[in-house]
Amino acid sequence: MTDSLSAPQDRHVVREDVPPYYLLSVDLEDIRSQTPAGAAVAFRVPAMVDRFLRFFDDHKIKCTFFVEGETVEHVSGLIREAHAAGHEIGCHTHDHTQLDKLTPEGFRENLERNIEALDRHGIEPVLGFRAPDFSLTEATRWAWDVLAELGFQYSSSVLPAKNPLYGWAGFPLSPVRLDSGLWELPISVASLGGFKIPFAGGVYLRFFPKPALRRFSRSFIKQHRPLVGYFHPYDIDVEEERYRVEDNIFFNWLVFYNRASTLPKLAFLLEKFTPIRFLDYVRVLEQMEG
Ligand SMILES: [Zn+2]
Repeated sequence: MTDSLSAPQDRHVVREDVPPYYLLSVDLEDIRSQTPAGAAVAFRVPAMVDRFLRFFDDHKIKCTFFVEGETVEHVSGLIREAHAAGHEIGCHTHDHTQLDKLTPEGFRENLERNIEALDRHGIEPVLGFRAPDFSLTEATRWAWDVLAELGFQYSSSVLPAKNPLYGWAGFPLSPVRLDSGLWELPISVASLGGFKIPFAGGVYLRFFPKPALRRFSRSFIKQHRPLVGYFHPYDIDVEEERYRVEDNIFFNWLVFYNRASTLPKLAFLLEKFTPIRFLDYVRVLEQMEG
């Protein structure tokens, strides 16, 4: 790869004929398995997938589900239903291992298990990938080569900013095509007081009120940049009993904060943006390249 030393270039071109798209995704995983306290809590992922599917149906939206391999067996009926309804299914590793905890070989094996788990339910080919916790950074960029070798067409795994967990400051804010042909679609961030905030999904979308979300999204509309969003089953689970997911009390509070606001805020942003599946947006990019 010629871009192995620095971050790829931002080659975003403003195209007036391209609407402001909102790339919608759900990272389908069971976070109970990430913490000992989770074992005592009810498994609510199926009910939340069902809730998402009804919301998408009501709004006539197709989205992309990045599905963890271990969770496939537990929600296989719903995944097949989602796939049959036209939603895209992608990979999210077999067991939610972050990339910096894997070698390239280990990642390949892990991903092959993820692909097989989906294949067992007739879901193939799988062309998209999301790294757990956006753990694709400068140090783990080898993951792109593994993805390209396994036939993936895109990844949406980079948080292009400094972040307490993972992040790649200096990475372009717009989709990038790598020399292998693979696309990286970074998560959208907005600037706020010197910080870059991934506001288009998850805890940040729950945290900020609608006027702030409107302000953050304005420059995306103006520059015809896509909004790349991410949600989880727990983001909409208003009935779940509280348990210790994070050791840090503040982070644990955030995990449960304002979940009732997620779907109304998503609907609010959809008034300004055109929803699209990730793979369909890759096709749009390819057309733009000519
Ligand atoms: Zn995840």
